[in-house]
This record gives sequence, structure tokens and C-alpha cells, in this order.
Amino acid sequence: CGIVGAVAQSDITEILTTGLSRLEYRGYDSCGIALINQGELHRSRTTSRVSELISQIAQESLNGTIGIAHTRWATHGQPTTENAHPHFSKHSDQLSANIALVHNGIIENYDELKIMLESKGFVFESQTDTEVIVHLINYLYVDCLKEAVTEAISHLKGAYALAVMCRSEPHRLVGARHGSPLVLGCKPQNPTIHGNFLASDALALTGVTDQIIYLEEGDVVDLQANNYWIYDKSGACVTRTIHTVHSQS
Ligand code: GLU
Repeated sequence: CGIVGAVAQSDITEILTTGLSRLEYRGYDSCGIALINQGELHRSRTTSRVSELISQIAQESLNGTIGIAHTRWATHGQPTTENAHPHFSKHSDQLSANIALVHNGIIENYDELKIMLESKGFVFESQTDTEVIVHLINYLYVDCLKEAVTEAISHLKGAYALAVMCRSEPHRLVGARHGSPLVLGCKPQNPTIHGNFLASDALALTGVTDQIIYLEEGDVVDLQANNYWIYDKSGACVTRTIHTVHSQS
């Protein structure tokens, strides 16, 4: 239902949780966050409110300079902690989870993708349609997350806004959209923050940045703390207009 993502030179945990709080008005049944810290993916999820997620994060001392967060409105699979996003992918050949992903939307061809991915040794942990995307990206991953996401989405049917990160590229956040909204936030208002951001709604970034790019259908974005690149559906690197949005709260 809602997505927030951030990559910066300083801790972004609070930017993500504040963003989720701003998206609460849309309604949700569960929420979660994933961060990369010390070269590993960490996450916290709950079927309770964002305020409960914030206390879990404090108890577990989670923090990081890159992360993704989500409020879920279940379409496939009950509203349980196991079905809450972010979803991780760890192949049996991998020592720890390699890819983390949040998704808004519905994947229509998840059944056939699940059969293919199970035959390649991926074990599913949830009943969501979303989990096929994270395993597909891990399956296709060689050494570039942006390329793996671009290849993976060519196999998806349905609607999606995605934010994805990879354990072995902890400086890089990748987003993609088709049929569900996703915006890129740049040039943070606080000059001490060096970072770039993703959100399903510019409202989630209120107070962080008012400089917003509305991504277009089929776009893939590659974000790092000091730069970002936008690719259109043909794969061409494009420049998009930055809009100044006016604070709504
Ligand atoms: N279809 C996904 C799920 O049920 C995403 C739902 C959403 O957009 O929150 O987990």
C-alpha cells in the first residue's frame, strides 16, 4: 500500500519510519522495514501499528544508511508477519539473504514464476504474490542490481511499484514502476543530509525533500547517496523534470 526507500551518507532509519507514519492514513494491515548494516540485511515486521514497528526497531537497535520500508494492504496471503514486506531472498547456495524488496500492487503471473523458481531451488516463506519478484531478482542477479531488476520486470505481468536493495551493493537502491505510483525525492532540505529517496507518494518525504520527480510507466531508477539515474522502458538513460511540491502538513 505504501513504500519509502532511502540511501544516504548517514542513518536513514528515522526518515523511513516518519515516512511510513505519513502514509498511515491510507490504511494498512501490517508494516515493516529492512536495512543493510555491517554487510548484512536486517529487518523488522509487525501486524501492529507503525508506532509498534518503531519500538521494535529501537529494541533491536536497527540502523543503516540504506533501507526500504512498507505498509501492506494484503491482496495475496493473510495479513501475518511472514507475509509482511520487506521480503528477502536467500538461495540454498547463499550463506545469508542477498536481496530485499518491497512491493505495491499485484503480480498476475506469480503461479508460473513460483513453479519455475522452486525448480531452481528457491524456498518460499510467504503466501504473497510479491515473493516471486525478490527470488526472480536473486536468480537473475550477476553483479549489478539495476540490471537484475530490469531483466526481472520484463517477466512480470500485473502492477507494481518496487524498491529493492542487495547485500553485496550496499550503496545502491533500485526502484521500478508499472501501474502503481512511485516518486524519486532528491536534494534534501537539510544540507547535512546527502541522500536520495523513493516513495509511493511525495507526502511520505515531507520535511526531507520537496524536490520530486514523478516516475513514468516502465521506469527503472538507480539511486546512490550522491547521484541517481533514471532509465525509461526502452532502457535509455533519461532526464526528468524536478517538481517543487508544497508541504501538506
Ligand atoms: N500484493 C502484495 C501483497 O499482498 C502487495 C500489497 C500492497 O500493495 O500493499 O503482499
